[in-house]
Amino acid sequence: MDPIRDWTRGGEGIAFQVCGSCRAAWYFRRGFCPACGAPDPQSRQASGLGRLHALTVVTRAPTEELRAHAPYVIALVDADEGFRLMAHCAPDLQIGDRVRVTFTDLAGKKIPFYEKA
Ligand SMILES: [Zn+2]
Repeated sequence: MDPIRDWTRGGEGIAFQVCGSCRAAWYFRRGFCPACGAPDPQSRQASGLGRLHALTVVTRAPTEELRAHAPYVIALVDADEGFRLMAHCAPDLQIGDRVRVTFTDLAGKKIPFYEKA
């Protein structure tokens, strides 16, 4: 089996975790299930597909590096696998749109960037 690609570890992919007991899925890596507390969650590769839950335009960037990119759009995406994550997205998206992840360079780092699917 291919190793799971994860952008936080330099790969072009999104990893998430699932609980073997209650089937909950979540994004931020942790050592136990946030829903039922069961240990040893499994890591999985996300498809990169989802639906746009919310978005906001950032005009006042929080860091000097990001200031050069403002204004930019931040999305909350409901991934098809059942977890929600925050990421940059294309400016032409609307709430409810089907989206697909791509990867782009921002401030010297490869980050997820959602576009219309
Ligand atoms: Zn659980």
